Amino acid sequence: MNFVSTSGRTPPTPFRDALLAGLAPDGGLFIPEHIPRVPAAFIGALPEQTLQSIGVEIAAAFIDDIPRTALAHILADAWTFDVPLVRLTDTIFLLELFHGPTLAFKDIGARFLARTLSHYLGETGRDITIAVATSGDTGSAVAHGFLDVPHVVVYVLYPSGKVSPLQEQQMATLGRNIHALEVEGTFDDCQRMVKRALGDGEVASARRLTTANSISLGRLVPQIAYYFWAVAQWRRTSPPPADTDAPVVVVPSGNFGNLTAGVYADAMGLRLASLIAATNANDAGAEYIRTGRFAPRNAVQTYANAMDVGNPSNLARLRAHFGDNLPRLQQRIAASSVSDSATIDEIRLTYEQCGTVIDPHTAVGVAVARAQHGKAPVVVTATAHPAKFPEVIERALGRPVPLPPELRDAEGRAKQSTIIPADYAAFKRILLTSSRP
Ligand SMILES: *Cc1c(COP(=O)(O)O)cnc(C)c1O
Repeated sequence: MNFVSTSGRTPPTPFRDALLAGLAPDGGLFIPEHIPRVPAAFIGALPEQTLQSIGVEIAAAFIDDIPRTALAHILADAWTFDVPLVRLTDTIFLLELFHGPTLAFKDIGARFLARTLSHYLGETGRDITIAVATSGDTGSAVAHGFLDVPHVVVYVLYPSGKVSPLQEQQMATLGRNIHALEVEGTFDDCQRMVKRALGDGEVASARRLTTANSISLGRLVPQIAYYFWAVAQWRRTSPPPADTDAPVVVVPSGNFGNLTAGVYADAMGLRLASLIAATNANDAGAEYIRTGRFAPRNAVQTYANAMDVGNPSNLARLRAHFGDNLPRLQQRIAASSVSDSATIDEIRLTYEQCGTVIDPHTAVGVAVARAQHGKAPVVVTATAHPAKFPEVIERALGRPVPLPPELRDAEGRAKQSTIIPADYAAFKRILLTSSRP
């Protein structure tokens, strides 16, 4: 399997080279040349599969230069936690993707990416630097995923004062091969600085640089697997939730990486009933899906802050997938947006009706699922643990959520970040002068 670019000016590239490059050389995002189909027998036997065995099947369909046994090792090492499907109401299920070390779904992709890169670096003996811009969850998942991975140095750029204290604790206290850069600006400034570094020839001649943002294929490919795993568990539920083959899936969305993985799973043969993108007030992507009009704008801050994205990068992949044909896209994907006050109401309602505390991102998804009248079963991808957002939960429920051990560990560690201005020259100086990995 080779990969081409959404911008159309990159020759077919093997997975390994696409992964090491991050962004395609023409500035586009790497996409598979075609979407591989999984065998019908595999779909039929889903209820007998495990998340790991599904992961190997999916990864092998895209990655042909890592043997299946090595992929199985990578996955066993990366996915050391459960991804349960939990029934919330008669028709709404949660796929809990947040039981990894940083308690958000990004662990699933970031941990696979780290180990896959490490596999390739081990083959070549070359070193690499990862630069990643984050509004919170990506940075902590990437920092934890790469901690102590040999031959890798990570720079995490995050906007000063704009990530939650817990998120900062998780990414700025690790030290070792993880450098936290606290940027006096916004998330968009951080993203701009990383993109500029990736295209800077002077930096490229000093060190091999790539990124780990949701544009990375190394995060996208493993995320496809949990859609199959959701259906596997859904079919095992007893009594079966409905006599349909597959549920509707609602995906709380920011950069649309999670949704793109669902669309790929669907096209590989999973045949979901449909997919729905759920966004907060940052609805440029949702508006595109509803109307075909795309107007990127500056992000506004909401309670679901990991979805505060004004210009979702993976929209380019979705458009390419459907050949820029809006009616075809709309046959498979719908979109809906949820305000901050409706998010708070949903956290409260879900707690009162079901006794379950959900985080603000998941609440955006559940609110959209609830608005689907009719009896079709809905799976919401639950993207974060509520304890990561104690202020929002307290506002909704008037009481705190107990901290899980992962967060308690982070609380005791001292911050080790470097403050820099929102100025590319400052970042470049660090990349050119600090010691190489
Ligand atoms: C990143 C994130 C999202 C958005 O995922 P995308 O793939 O960027 O659409 C949703 N919820 C949480 C908790 C996240 O960390």
